[in-house]
Amino acid sequence: FEQRMFDASKLPAVTLDGAAVILRANIEKVDEVKLVRENSASGVGLFRTEFLYLSDNRVPSEEEQYAAYKAVAEAFPDEPVVIRTLDLGGDKPMTGNPDLFPEESNPFLGFRAIRFCLEHKEIFKDQLRAILRASAHGKVQLMYPMISGSEELARANAVLEECRAELKKDGVAFDAKMAVGAMIEIPSAAVTADILAKECDFFSIGTNDLIQYLLAIDRVNDRIAHLYEPTHPAVLRTIKQIVDEAHRQKIKVSVCGEMAGDPVYVPLLLGLGVDELSMTPPLLPAVKYLVRAMKMSEAKKLAKDALELTSPKEIYALADKFCRERV
Ligand code: PEP
Ligand code: MG
Repeated sequence: FEQRMFDASKLPAVTLDGAAVILRANIEKVDEVKLVRENSASGVGLFRTEFLYLSDNRVPSEEEQYAAYKAVAEAFPDEPVVIRTLDLGGDKPMTGNPDLFPEESNPFLGFRAIRFCLEHKEIFKDQLRAILRASAHGKVQLMYPMISGSEELARANAVLEECRAELKKDGVAFDAKMAVGAMIEIPSAAVTADILAKECDFFSIGTNDLIQYLLAIDRVNDRIAHLYEPTHPAVLRTIKQIVDEAHRQKIKVSVCGEMAGDPVYVPLLLGLGVDELSMTPPLLPAVKYLVRAMKMSEAKKLAKDALELTSPKEIYALADKFCRERV
């Protein structure tokens, strides 16, 4: 199997019935671009920028960030590089900095990601300017994490507009048409996907958080890990709703949570209509192998059958069987 997987890894990600599937990579550090290339991803679907802040436990300057974002953008001149704005807090805390991150009793429901950025506008603007400047060097796309509704999205976009105006005034180059999307990972965003889809260029579903918040299961608590079920009907229905609303507005949907890199869930996601999958680079070959061994028509049937079932275990068994029969 290893050898067959390796043989397929440089071939296109196309199903047996001719559907092209876009597979991108999740990265945290600039030097991972090498791994992305080795595993033949179509660019970067999620650049988690937190590492720039966490590695030295300090807020990096606009210049430091610009250098990092530009390097990744230039590494993939023909493919999108989706840079996510800061998602500190929750499972990615900045410790030892109580001025910025006071202790909280419920960090996952607290001062995290876009909430932090909208309160610390100067930190946010440094990052937005760095991303905008990097957009002059490649196909950069910007994505906000933990968006809960349209008002929050509008506030973030207003800050972005301020940055665009400043750069323009200073004669600094940036891509005025850079795509701007939202992560859909909070139930309120999923429920209002029809509204958000009108204000975004794309969606990326963060299943790690979406599952946690939909099922009220802490994503890092081992004691309840068995209850963290990606095949819960609530998860499948929610993903379907997000995809349907996005497609109604003619925008694309990616999944960049861990579900996207697990061969058991890949046919289910594609069958639900997800357009792109983004995963950690080492998982790309197995996912590509499976994509090349299945038919999109069968994946659609799988998703339809799964949506009829009520038990997460039964849905898992169905998806697992589908995968096993093809690899
Ligand atoms: C997610 O929530 O699925 C996601 C991709 O973001 P993170 O894991 O960084 O929270
Ligand atoms: Mg998340």
